[in-house]
Amino acid sequence: MNIAVYPGTFDPFTNGHKDLVQRAATNIFNKVYICVAESSKKEMVFSLSERIDLAKKATKDISNIEVCGFNGLLVDFADKLEAKVILRGLRVVSDFEYEFQMSSMNKKLNKNIESIFLTPSESYSFLSSSLVKEIANLGGDISSFVSNDVKIALEKKCKKKS
Ligand code: ADP
Repeated sequence: MNIAVYPGTFDPFTNGHKDLVQRAATNIFNKVYICVAESSKKEMVFSLSERIDLAKKATKDISNIEVCGFNGLLVDFADKLEAKVILRGLRVVSDFEYEFQMSSMNKKLNKNIESIFLTPSESYSFLSSSLVKEIANLGGDISSFVSNDVKIALEKKCKKKS
C-alpha cells in the first residue's frame, strides 16, 4: 500500500488544502491521512476537534482520505499508520526554507520516510488559512476560499469576538 500522511494545523481547512490532498489521493497514493496537529507554536482559532471535524466534512467525498488528530513526533505517527511518505505543499519561495529544514530533520529522525511536495493549482497559490482568517475578521467574503461549513464556523468565531 502506497500511504501518505498530510500533516498541518489546518486552522481552518481551505480549498487549497483540499485541492492538494485530492490530487494526491486521486493521482498518486492509495491512501492519504490528513493529520491535524494538536500542538503548535501558533495560536489556534479552532480547537483540535473542530479542525478535525471541518477537514472531515470538506473531504467526505474522497473515499481514500482519512482525517485524524495527532500530537508528538510526526514520523512516529506516520510509522504507526504505515505511511512511508510525508506530503506537504509548497506555495511560494518563502515556504521553502522551513519545509527544507523540516524534511531534513524528519529524514534524520526516520530515514525510511520520504517527504514529497506538491505545488498548488494556480488558482490556490495565494491561499493560506491565516489570510482567510484575516479576511473573515475584516468582514470580507471567503466563500470561494473555504467550504460552506468552514465559512459558517469561521463567521461564528468572528461574531463571538466582536
Ligand atoms: P502548517 O500549520 O504546518 O504551517 P497548514 O495547516 O497551513 O500548515 O498547511 C498544511 C500544508 O498544506 C502545508 O504544507 C502547506 O504548505 C500546505 N498548503 C496550505 N495552503 C495551501 C494551498 N493553498 N495550496 C497548496 N498547499 C497548501
